[in-house]
Amino acid sequence: MRYVVGKSVYKGIAMGPCAVLKKDGHQVKRRRITCKESELERVRQAILRSKEQLQRLYDKALVEVGETSAAIFEVHQMMLEDQDYLDAIHNMIETEMINAEYAVAVTGDNFSEMFRAMDDDYMKARGTDIIDVSERLVRNLIGEEDSDLYFDEPTVVIADDLTPSETVQMDKEKIIAFVTVHGSANSHTAILARIMNIPALVGVDIELDSLKNGTMAIVDGIEGNLILEPDEATCAKAKDKILEQRENEMLLQSLKGKENVTLSGRKINVYANIGNVSDLGYAIENDAGGIGLFRSEFLYLGKTDFPSEDEQYQAYKQVLQTMAGKKVIVRTLDIGADKKVDYLGLAHEENPALGYRAIRICLMQPDIFKTQLRALFRAAIYGDMAVMYPMITSVKEVERIFAIVDEVKKELDEQGVCYAVPKQGVMIETPAAVMISDQLAQMVDFFSIGTNDLTQYTLAVDRQNEMLDEFYDPHHTAIFKMIQMVIDNAHNAGKWVGICGELGADLSLTEQFVRMGIDELSVAPSMILKLRKIIRQIQ
Ligand code: PEP
Ligand code: MG
Repeated sequence: MRYVVGKSVYKGIAMGPCAVLKKDGHQVKRRRITCKESELERVRQAILRSKEQLQRLYDKALVEVGETSAAIFEVHQMMLEDQDYLDAIHNMIETEMINAEYAVAVTGDNFSEMFRAMDDDYMKARGTDIIDVSERLVRNLIGEEDSDLYFDEPTVVIADDLTPSETVQMDKEKIIAFVTVHGSANSHTAILARIMNIPALVGVDIELDSLKNGTMAIVDGIEGNLILEPDEATCAKAKDKILEQRENEMLLQSLKGKENVTLSGRKINVYANIGNVSDLGYAIENDAGGIGLFRSEFLYLGKTDFPSEDEQYQAYKQVLQTMAGKKVIVRTLDIGADKKVDYLGLAHEENPALGYRAIRICLMQPDIFKTQLRALFRAAIYGDMAVMYPMITSVKEVERIFAIVDEVKKELDEQGVCYAVPKQGVMIETPAAVMISDQLAQMVDFFSIGTNDLTQYTLAVDRQNEMLDEFYDPHHTAIFKMIQMVIDNAHNAGKWVGICGELGADLSLTEQFVRMGIDELSVAPSMILKLRKIIRQIQ
């Protein structure tokens, strides 16, 4: 039995076998072979296995994210049938008498370079796909387990670190806990764990190579530790805690259908934060009054190209229809910093959190922004939609946004396309936005305070830097003063204001926020009923 401590991201407890995700584990070495037939047979078998995996991924993506996004796995399957690609691998093995892994890796690199040198953007992007496909083939050749993030049974995922793109690909049904060696408690992976309502630990100092898949693990997010190969007594204790956790959950379930009102009759809207259409189930299950933050950039992550207008339209429409008339606030593309996609071609930046991200990308590449706005406005006819813009720092930015919104409306009118203009708000997540919130309140319909970034920018502490977790203090007086200022300025202009950053779910602050005048709290679905319980006890 081994104990390893970590920083808890979600306070729950889970027990099950672990799956260890190792990255860049294979260094493909060139080896001479003596029998080319058996090497060619290995390639054939690896291709068969790869195709099966890709088919499984396609089926899963089809249900979760729709046909357009799933199509990428069909493209990958087709690449495995491409005669030029296969001939190149076979020729290398036959003429150079070298091992299959090496032939696949070199062919993948060569083809990828060839694609990337092409003029056409679509073909350029295929360069990444061919590397993906070749890496899958190599993994299957060396017998390394598929890292599709697909699991057959409830699993504790243990990884070095997880990017937002990887987490979107995960089979969320089967993950019972996350453990990462790196990563900060404020990262998007941590946020995802909270959305999924599962225990998670980051900063767990463990040697991944020493761990085997299937090793029994207890992730204790209450105590903040990972227990590997627990003995019988420890397992029994964990089972008791899991049972207690379930009982607490049942108690909360009895609050379903009840209102979020204080004893003196003040109603607070409690909404859910989601990152994907597939998270909607968690929102409904936990009786969310609406969606207070749909992080739309997750539609852009884990892909090889921009989601089309129609793909986005289908996703927004599905969210609105599922929420059946309840408010749905979609945050426009907030990509950059830790949320990266290759196809955007973002240059390396020394300071990405202060760099080319979010609304700055949308204003400088208005075509990307317009496609999203068109999809949003078209979908808005299916429910009560609002949009909000991230990372605002000036009145000028909001004016530029509104000018683009006007252009989009004009184009839709000219094309005779049916649409509705949703209510429009801004996120208050920079100190500049706080200081001009009196002016911004005159321009928009509502504010949503992003305390994650507001803390980062106010305290000058990188929220991604795990070494700085002790300095990242959202309870700093400066943050409370700012929140109060924003609430007062919004209310003076007759506008409502909410909090959609993680601080909104801090149960030790709920009463204080209500007293400060907050109108809405948008939190991970798992926190909704806990907030309801507290709100209903406030005088
Ligand atoms: C925030 O910054 O508080 C926020 C809600 O946005 P994100 O965490 O996605 O940056
Ligand atoms: Mg933010």
